[in-house]
Amino acid sequence: MPYNIEDPRRDMDDLVVVDPDQARHERGLELYLRHRINSIDLEQRVLSVTDLEADQESTVSYDALILATGARPERPNLPGFELPGVEVLRVMDDGVRIKQALDARVRNVVIVGAGALGMEMAHVLTSREIEVTVLERLPRVLPGWHGDTVTRVEKVLEREGVRALCAASVQAIEAGPDGRVCAVVTDQERLAAELVVVAVGIRANVALAASAGLRLGDSGAIWVNQHQLTSNDAVWAAGDCAEVYHRVLRRNTWKPLATTANKQGRVAGANAAGAMERFAGVVGTAAMKMFDLEVARTGLSTRTARDEGFEPVETTVRQRSRAHGYPGGSTVQVTLVADGPTGLLLGAELTGEEGAALRANTVAAALAAHMSVTDLQQLDLAYAPPFAPVWDPLLVAANQLSKKIGRSR
Ligand SMILES: Cc1cc2nc3c(=O)[nH]c(=O)nc-3n(C[C@H](O)[C@H](O)[C@H](O)COP(=O)(O)OP(=O)(O)OC[C@H]3O[C@@H](n4cnc5c(N)ncnc54)[C@H](O)[C@@H]3O)c2cc1C
Repeated sequence: MPYNIEDPRRDMDDLVVVDPDQARHERGLELYLRHRINSIDLEQRVLSVTDLEADQESTVSYDALILATGARPERPNLPGFELPGVEVLRVMDDGVRIKQALDARVRNVVIVGAGALGMEMAHVLTSREIEVTVLERLPRVLPGWHGDTVTRVEKVLEREGVRALCAASVQAIEAGPDGRVCAVVTDQERLAAELVVVAVGIRANVALAASAGLRLGDSGAIWVNQHQLTSNDAVWAAGDCAEVYHRVLRRNTWKPLATTANKQGRVAGANAAGAMERFAGVVGTAAMKMFDLEVARTGLSTRTARDEGFEPVETTVRQRSRAHGYPGGSTVQVTLVADGPTGLLLGAELTGEEGAALRANTVAAALAAHMSVTDLQQLDLAYAPPFAPVWDPLLVAANQLSKKIGRSR
């Protein structure tokens, strides 16, 4: 959606991959739109359903049930967050409303929350020549990301004229005479805003599962095993509502991303139909683009690694994306994290104008294979001047980290 919002000529419907008619006629699904599941009787294997168009209640029985109820955006419980012109971005209708506001020549937008979505929206709105302020409660943008990554992102924000107001708490949103949002009040200052985009995080939709008595995991999302089976043997769960096995942590966690949802959905679907497939799990890979900068991560950060009982050692290197002497190219910054005592590779963050996001995928594969830093140092990565130097930035980072680990022992 953010990239669709960036282009005023594109219709939001361009994003639809399978429309209801295709689902019914080409895929043979019985599809009930505008129907809400209110409760699940696990004993009787019966759902209570409301047809929201006809306002009618009914029951539906099942042999196998897959929960894919997703997640919902959080909205701070503060005055004014319900005003017209205060939007979240979760479903396509949200995107349509934001686009309509932009078409109505909104000039200044405040984004509440400087996580990945807030940063993507800062890029998108600035490209549409809108004055953007990003508000963040914590001291820096992209909370949870490595300081070296954040520094690079901050430089891009400054260069592009995006104002990041950090260590600032929103207190209220105010309406103008027309009843629409006109300002955001923080503990530091009052900011004029014709549109506010709230991007302060999401929460798994677990009410249905919890009220039925299904087990929730430590993360608060629905507990599942690697077959996507819940604590009930006729109910599977997949996507943002469910936990996922983390291959570095070797336990369940919550990583609500499309790539995870799709793989879990395939496994849940197959197993609900009688197969016994297993989802190997994730390592926590994610990427975004901010202006011309690719920002990506995989695995654990140093802080998470420490919290999880590892003894992390990290290094950051800045290397050319292409061979010396080959035209073009730019700087790829790699932060690599490993466990000091064992040398086990734990995670990476990468930024750069080219070749950063997809290099994170190489580290993701290494993490899935439980490689050590030494394994990564010796990985047979391609060298050709247009694509990489003879020592790829990842290999340089692994060499440096290996030395650092050696010194720390
Ligand atoms: C702006 C944005 C950008 C994103 N960018 C990326 C990205 O670049 N990469 C990435 O990997 N991920 C990205 N994501 C995350 C990704 O979209 C989600 O992980 C994915 O959509 C999850 O799919 P899902 O089917 O589990 O849940 P959802 O897509 O949330 O679908 C859940 C559905 O269940 C329905 N539902 C809930 N409760 C009930 C009920 N009681 N009865 C009936 N229906 C119910 C909901 O109405 C909803 O339609 C992004 C998300 C957003 C919002």
